[in-house]
Parts: sequence; C-alpha cells; structure tokens
Amino acid sequence: MNITMNKHDKKRLEGLVKTLSKAKDQAETAHMYLIANHRDPEDIATVSLVLEHIEITLEHLSAARACRVCGCTEHHACLGGCYWVEEDLCSNCVGVEMATEG
Ligand SMILES: [Zn+2]
Ligand SMILES: [Zn+2]
Repeated sequence: MNITMNKHDKKRLEGLVKTLSKAKDQAETAHMYLIANHRDPEDIATVSLVLEHIEITLEHLSAARACRVCGCTEHHACLGGCYWVEEDLCSNCVGVEMATEG
C-alpha cells in the first residue's frame, strides 16, 4: 500500500492513533480490574472484545503508515528490512534524504 497523504491528513491520523492508544490503555486497565475483582464474566468478555477491536484498528492505522521517501510500509519493508526513524521516515532513507536535500 502506497498512500500519499498531505500533512493535514497525517496529523489527523497521528491524532487518531494517539487517541486509540489511550483508549487501549484504558480498556487494558478496565480488563485487568474486572478480572482482579472477579466481576461478571460477561462484562469481562465485553471489555476484551473492545480491546481486541482497538488493537485491530491500530493495526490498520499502522499499515497506512508509509515512508515519505521510498513509500515502504509496516507490512512492506525495504529490501533487507528497515525500521521507523521518524513517524514517516524509515532507516534506509535517512542518508538518502540528507543527500538529496538542498
Ligand atoms: Zn524509506
Ligand atoms: Zn523502508
């Protein structure tokens, strides 16, 4: 997947990821609390379902993340592998970008 997003779209996506990460934390805490206090299994099941869905959503969002130089993604890394150096810059493109800048 090679998505070209403008800065505004990216900011919005980042905000969404942050909000969902926070929601995930809250759901995890609630889940642990419910289990620790031996609450209604139905409630526990509901919270774990919520947690699962948040994780799936976050996965989809991270799949939309692409390098601004080469366009590689979480699921399609560069040949030989790479990792994120910045929000939208992979390890293989750090030097490349510096060389082409200016
Ligand atoms: Zn790259
Ligand atoms: Zn890469």
